[in-house]
Formats: sequence, structure tokens, C-alpha cells
Amino acid sequence: MSKPDATQAPGNPQYARLLELISEVRDIQGIGALLFWDQQVIMPRGGAASRGNHLALVNKLRHERFTSPEIGRLLEGLRSYEESLPYDSDEASTIRVTRREYAKATKLPPELVVRASRAATEGYTVWLAAREARDYGVFRPALEKTVAVTREIAETLGYEDHPMDALLDQHEPGMKVADVETLFAELRTALVPLAKAIAAKGDIVDSAFLQQPFDRAKQLALGLEAVKAIGYDPEIRGRMDISVHPYTIDIALDDVRITTRVNENYVGQSFFACLHEAGHGIYGQGLPGKFGRSILGDGASAGLHESQSRLWENVVGRSRAFWQSFFPRLEAHFPTQLAAATPESIYRAVNRVRPSLIRVEADEVTYNLHIMVRFELEKAVFDGKLEVKDLAEAWNAKFKEYLGIAPSDDLTGILQDIHWSMSFGANFTSYTIGNVASIQLYEEAVKQYPDMTERIARGDFAALFGWMKDNLHVHAAKFTPQETLERVTGKPLTAAPYLGYIKRKFTDIYGL
Ligand code: ZN
Repeated sequence: MSKPDATQAPGNPQYARLLELISEVRDIQGIGALLFWDQQVIMPRGGAASRGNHLALVNKLRHERFTSPEIGRLLEGLRSYEESLPYDSDEASTIRVTRREYAKATKLPPELVVRASRAATEGYTVWLAAREARDYGVFRPALEKTVAVTREIAETLGYEDHPMDALLDQHEPGMKVADVETLFAELRTALVPLAKAIAAKGDIVDSAFLQQPFDRAKQLALGLEAVKAIGYDPEIRGRMDISVHPYTIDIALDDVRITTRVNENYVGQSFFACLHEAGHGIYGQGLPGKFGRSILGDGASAGLHESQSRLWENVVGRSRAFWQSFFPRLEAHFPTQLAAATPESIYRAVNRVRPSLIRVEADEVTYNLHIMVRFELEKAVFDGKLEVKDLAEAWNAKFKEYLGIAPSDDLTGILQDIHWSMSFGANFTSYTIGNVASIQLYEEAVKQYPDMTERIARGDFAALFGWMKDNLHVHAAKFTPQETLERVTGKPLTAAPYLGYIKRKFTDIYGL
């Protein structure tokens, strides 16, 4: 006899039927994810056009299944059942989250969903070509289409205050553009003077030894060791491959794949991409198995997903304690390159602060300024204050304003991120939300394990991994990001812990 699944309610046939329909929607989503993984990792470029058709069809089928009138009728019929259940029960949460997502999805006509999917596939291919040409002009027509279709989606979904609220809600349910602006204001006030104080100290941290030839295969072997050490499973329930843009793709809870990219002249790029994506992968693999084909089988939001990737990439991977345990492994792969290095010199090198052009390589002090640039440009486009044709120029001007530097070509400027090739509006803010939430969560874990630093210094990541699994991953997508943070840490998203962490860490490194 098999045990009843926690999300099953044999007593309520309508609820059972709802679960059945949702599980098929989730399966179609998994098929789409597999096609997307293939597109990113092994598809020959010639396959792009037909893959566009395949993905558009899969997205259409998923959308049609999810917006079927039967699901609407079931949700109506389940109102009193939902009210009879505790808010945080799996059943009530399943109905509540389905209701929320159904309301959004039924507003979007299938024809618009197909157009958005086609625009994304085409946008990605054109973006690759534009990168090769290092020319925003090549990408611009595709981006104009994407902006138009995204604007249409925002208008169709509807909003109270700002069109980007409708888009932000898709990544961070319940959050508004005004909340993000408040958060950015608080960060800007603290981080801009800190970055200036660090710059005034001069370039006192040496990281040049990280930039020399490092064998590609050895870098990948090192990355694989690291992701395994922190708790990601790349063998039975995942795998690691190479792609242009590092990614985590959830095909199913037991098939969560990550990718990385290798720079043969800089050992940090692949290493930290591995830790970052493994953080996402650990969240996906850490979700309760009972939510496998449920609408709840996901992270709470893109921002909370980022909290997990930033936790392992930065809070752990760029900590002094981590390099005390991990240095010998790095040295074993690259004894010649690291002949003069020590755990402390690596720790300092991976935390060197300087204004840089590339977001994914930015240090923790300036990273959020990169996000602010993107957010403000997106908002200016939505507010009609900026045209897509002037975006590259505006990008360069904002960089000059916030970071004091401007890119010499579009490849290191506006063409660096994959995001705008697929959608436009509010899709970067989750990174900043993740940075801020990572510390809020970590400090909560430290309350239970006051010796966390010593554990990490011994290479013991089980306490942190286990705490996140038991306290965060366990909630899956049952609650909004703010509700989730309140449940786990007692507070909604709060900048203070993050700013305290940044200030302590970099005051020490730079002797401020
Ligand atoms: Zn990420």
C-alpha cells in the first residue's frame, strides 16, 4: 500500500481533479525546459528556427491546458473547501497559488503568448549574432519587438500604479516597483560612499594571479568538486554542462541541470558561476518531493532563488572561512599558477572592489549599481522617457554616472546579458532582492549554528545546506516572497543585515 501524498485529498474529488490537471501542465512545462536546455547546450545553430516553433507550440499547449475553463470551474467550486483549511496547508496553498496564477494566465490570449515565445526565441538568436558583431544596431530591431510585446503583456495583465508592476509580479508575486525603488534608495545611500572610500584607498588588493592561463578541463573538474562539496547533486538528480550564459534549468525536481562557462585566462569566472548555479540547483533539488508535479514545486520567487545562488557564490564562496578549507583543492589543480598564493591572498583577490563593466563579474560592493542601471533604463523606456534606439547610448551614460567608467563596445555594454533577448522589464531586480535576502537568511541560520564560520572553515557545509532545506526550501512556492521571508526570518525583506555585512567585510579587507 502506498502512503497518501501530502498534496492529495482523497476526500475531495474536485481537489483531486485539480491536482491531476496541474500535473499535466507541469509535465508540459518540463518538456519545454528540456527543449530549452537543448537549445542552450547542444543544439546546432541551424536548429534555431524549428526550435522556435517547438517551444512556441509547447508554451501554447501549456497555456491552453492551464487556462482551461475546467480549472476555472474547479477553483470556483473549491472556495469553501479552501476556506475550511489552514492558510499554510498544502491544499489551501495549492488552491490559492493556482487561483493567483490562473487569474494572470487567463488574461493573456494564447496568440499573445505565442508571439512572446517567438519573439524570445528570435531575440536570443539575434542577440548571439549581435554579440559576434559587437553591435547593438544588429540587436535593436529584435529588442524593439520584445519591448512592444512585453508592454502589451503588462497592459493586458493590468496594474494599479506602474506597468512594470504587472511584470515584476510575475517574478516577485506581490511586490511593486515602488518597493524596489525604496530598496534601491537605501542601498544607493550606503553603497555609493563605501565604493568611493574603497576607491580612495587605491588598488591595494592583488588579483592579477587569478588572470593567467588555467586549463579548461581542470577548471571544470574544480567546479564539479565545488558544486558537489556544497551539496548539489550533478550525477543522479542533475548535471553540469557549458553554455554561453550560465543557467539552471529545472526539468523536474529530480532533474535539475546547471551550466557554466569557462574563461581560460581567468579562473574565477567558471568557479563562481558553478557555485552560483549550484545554489539555484540546490534549491530546486531541495524542494519537497511531494511537490514534484504540483504548482508549488518551485522556489518562492526569482529573488528568493537568487538568495540561494548568492548565498553559495558570495556569502560562502567569497568568505575567508571557505578559502581556508578550499584552498588546497584549488592548489592541487593549479600548483604552478598558485605557487605564491595563500588562503588569505585568494580571499582578498576574489573580493577586490573596482568599478567594472560586466555585471556577472562585479564585486559585492558595486554589483547592485549594475542592477540599478538596468532597472532605471527599463523604467525610462516604460515611462516613454527613453526610446529603444537610444538605449545603448543611455546605458553608457548611466555607467559613467554610477561607476565612473563606460564600455568601449556594446559587447561589454548593453549586449552582455541574455535577459533582454527574451523579455524586457523588471527581470533584473530579483538579483538585488536575492543579494539582500541572502544575508537575512544566512544570519537566521547562524542563530541556530553560532559556529557556522568554523564549520565552513572545516569544509562542512551540511549545517547551512540542511538549514536552508528545512527552513526555506520546505515552503517551496506556497507563499509570496515577502510571506516566505516573514515566516523564515520574522521580517519582510530588510536591507539592514545586507548593508551591515558589506560594511563589515569590506572595511576589514580595505582597512577603512
Ligand atoms: Zn542566478
